Amino acid sequence: MTTNHCNDPCAATLIPLAKKEGITTVWDRHKAMQPQCGFGQLGVCCRICWKGPCRIDPFGDGPQQGICGATADTIVARNVIRMMASGAAAHSEHGRHVALALLGVAEGKLPDYTIRDEGKLRSIAAKLGLDGTREDILAVAREVALATLGDFQNQDHDTPCAWIASTITGKRLEKLAALHVLPHNIDAVVTGIMARTNVGCDADPVNLVLGGVKGALADFNGMCLATEISDVLFGTPSPVVTAANLGVLKEDAVNIAVHGHNPLLSDVVCDVALLMGDEARRAGAKDGINIVGVCCTGNEVMVRHGIPLAANYLSQELALITGAVDAMVVDVQCIMPSISEIGACFHTEIITTMDDTKIPGATHVNFREATATENARQIVTLAIEAYKRRNPQRVIIPDIKRTAMVGFGTEAIVGALATLNAEDPLKPLVDNIANGAIRGIALFAGCNNPQVDQDSSFVTIARKLARNNVLLLATGCGAGAFAKHGMMTQEATLEYAGDSLKAVLTAIGTAAGLGGPLPLVLHMGSCVDNSRAVEVAVALANKLGVDLDSLPLVSSAPEAMSEKAVAIGTWSVALGIPTHLGIMPQVTGSPVVTKLVTETVKELLGGYFIVELDPDRAADKLLDVIDERRKALGI
Ligand code: SF4
Repeated sequence: MTTNHCNDPCAATLIPLAKKEGITTVWDRHKAMQPQCGFGQLGVCCRICWKGPCRIDPFGDGPQQGICGATADTIVARNVIRMMASGAAAHSEHGRHVALALLGVAEGKLPDYTIRDEGKLRSIAAKLGLDGTREDILAVAREVALATLGDFQNQDHDTPCAWIASTITGKRLEKLAALHVLPHNIDAVVTGIMARTNVGCDADPVNLVLGGVKGALADFNGMCLATEISDVLFGTPSPVVTAANLGVLKEDAVNIAVHGHNPLLSDVVCDVALLMGDEARRAGAKDGINIVGVCCTGNEVMVRHGIPLAANYLSQELALITGAVDAMVVDVQCIMPSISEIGACFHTEIITTMDDTKIPGATHVNFREATATENARQIVTLAIEAYKRRNPQRVIIPDIKRTAMVGFGTEAIVGALATLNAEDPLKPLVDNIANGAIRGIALFAGCNNPQVDQDSSFVTIARKLARNNVLLLATGCGAGAFAKHGMMTQEATLEYAGDSLKAVLTAIGTAAGLGGPLPLVLHMGSCVDNSRAVEVAVALANKLGVDLDSLPLVSSAPEAMSEKAVAIGTWSVALGIPTHLGIMPQVTGSPVVTKLVTETVKELLGGYFIVELDPDRAADKLLDVIDERRKALGI
């Protein structure tokens, strides 16, 4: 470990530098927060009315009910499903933003955007039951956009949202419908959670959690539409070789870090930066403009355009401490408010761009899709101006970056498989799962959390699973961790994969023209792109004629942190996927909720949460689950 709770190799240089400069980081603030509130950790603190706050005594000596009579079970359930609602709102707001942009393009109102993947748009139209064959592509785009926006408007409770209904297996749809947890309208479901958790409403912990599951599935719906429409507007990922970690910053370039989640602005910034290189050179930056990514906006531009990733969530402050970032441009979600304070210690412009995400001390550029190019130009100009103020004496860029082969969306994976069997691309995957060459599949997702050594649990679990021939997929800051640690390379496959997995990855990668194996971990994109992994799983399940809860498939969020992760983990479980958490969820103050989400739900939905803080033991548990599923399948 290089420093307290940070396994990022860049921290060894930058944390001492921060200390010398008197700059506090997330790890300092986490330390200062100890001991953290035990009531909050157990989820038994209620603040939803002003008779409170109330907290339940976990030892049984003090109050066992809030002032209104709410028990620990009610309080925990209400708290956790409000987190799911918030997560669903965040992803779905992102999705709505992208869907409205597609509508704007279709209606000729957004000249700065175009349809970059017509084939994908047509296949989405067909999937949604629309006519994707019409010659007028803008008419197809309009229909897709309107059908998608219908998922925010439908008032018929018996008609599920179009995206989830057209994405998951028929058997899963039936199961979810029978439990009344299929969302019909994203906005209504999120509002419903806020309403039922208001003081004096739903007090039944099981009923509350089922309401939360519906919200989490609304989150899934929002992620599907956000991912797929982003591909239409910005391109569908395909394999590309790039690099990750702070060594991607350049001393002689104007460095612009794009951070957040939504590609609507960052994609245009990338385009505009290409046109403004000479202006940067005139300002003295002989290498022009260097765009780097942070967090999931970073993943979005990484998998689509090969833009290097500077940092995942917990390292965002370290990027600024290099003194080399001239502008950090943020959109929404996972942006630490502290960046404006750290930016002010240097010359760095922190630029907020969205109406609902402003930070005191930051410069705000009022981003609008209708003026996207103009806004991007304004942002790049601010970065060039900041570069002129940069103090070269304060620039310390750790010479640390790792190669990363990324861009393995569903189409790229199926495309690679098609090089082995053009007529039946999934057959090689199914055959290799059936014969045991691939023991199972694991999806790594989720955030970073200072409660554990950054990135280390991801790496430990993945290496053990790979050694045991488990195929690894990753998204979000998990993908960032693997990219930074060199696990998205062909060399990592040769070093860490078990023999049979190595042989399969080599056969596919070689046939696909990659000159060697597929990388050890396949980067599927940002956290909204978790829907891509489900798409692959659904294709596999349909091919085998089973439901998702029969597949030897697991997911893991070793450093879960955000409300979005609570929603993702919950829909993962609802889709039948055993889901590992490496962080203690804030529900253990309720025996009813804890048993429900770790045991009872298995009978209801097939998926369940596995809470294991030790990464080595977590890997063993995931392997056990995979073997249990294989046995049930008779393979
Ligand atoms: Fe206390 Fe009940 Fe109000 Fe919660 S809703 S703060 S438990 S009185």
